[in-house]
Amino acid sequence: MGATQLLKPDAAGIEAGAAILRSGGLVAFPTETVYGLGARADDDRAVARIFEAKGRPTFNPLICHVSAAEDAFSIGRLDDRAGLLAAAFWPGPLTLVAPHRAGVSDLARASLGTVGLRVPGHPVARALIEAAGVPVAAPSANPSGRISPTAAAHVLEGLEGRIDAVFDAGPCPVGVESTIVACTGGPPRLLREGGVPREALERVAGPLGAGGGGAVEAPGMTLSHYAPRGAVRLDADAPRAGERMLGFGAVGGEANLSPSGDLGEAAANLFAMMRALDDGRPLAVAPIPDRGLGRAIRDRLTRAAAPQG
Ligand code: AMP
Ligand code: MG
Repeated sequence: MGATQLLKPDAAGIEAGAAILRSGGLVAFPTETVYGLGARADDDRAVARIFEAKGRPTFNPLICHVSAAEDAFSIGRLDDRAGLLAAAFWPGPLTLVAPHRAGVSDLARASLGTVGLRVPGHPVARALIEAAGVPVAAPSANPSGRISPTAAAHVLEGLEGRIDAVFDAGPCPVGVESTIVACTGGPPRLLREGGVPREALERVAGPLGAGGGGAVEAPGMTLSHYAPRGAVRLDADAPRAGERMLGFGAVGGEANLSPSGDLGEAAANLFAMMRALDDGRPLAVAPIPDRGLGRAIRDRLTRAAAPQG
């Protein structure tokens, strides 16, 4: 593959990106969560390029992005509670896993009978998917297992020359990946914390069942993920000798996720600050409250702290 083209998020850029997707190429684009690496989801060969570019194991299924909820309803069999969640949180940072009807390649689903579906809220993402006229499979636009990208520069750092194009469209407003909820019978189950807090989901759909599908259901969940080069230590009040320090609220550091203690601001800053501080030295991170978006932040930090597999 040749050079990676930089696209502007204007009408001409959207049309160029859509044409690349239609012809089976790879385009990285902003969503409200992180930058996604997109390929048409109805074509095994196009989807295969995503796994190749990221070095992602093919047993890890991809989330399929559509520009309108009605497209999701034709691809997946969304039950009543999935419908309630879709109505409340789409477009937005929520992925629903539902039985697959038709339309998404086997490879994108890792041959599961289910499919992960999301209507993203970012205007560039929606315009691109709508112009492409096909569902778009898109994991985060980074080499597998590394810190997710929240800016075009992060995408280029990891994938330049390995993908056809990337939109240069500014930072991602939410900053952590989508919340994943499985609606495959019985109460909806939380598979991954993310941009929609559990509390908000439960207000709409009632108590969520235990996630616990384990390795088969959400393989990405069990591996060391979002890994910086240096070790990560959570709930630190101060750095130890040799550590760099990422602060939150009153517990300061070389960078502070949110000096005022705002969890939304902290989520939006998380990956960029982890990258900025990742020079191979160990990283200490201030305590983050275990509520709202803090749950997703703690989840990503816990996985960053897990021993490398
Ligand atoms: P990523 O795109 O890297 O944020 O990862 C997407 C996550 O969604 C992975 O951890 C997958 O396991 C999960 N996922 C996608 N599709 C499905 C599915 N059909 N069933 C269960 N989990 C899924
Ligand atoms: Mg990812």
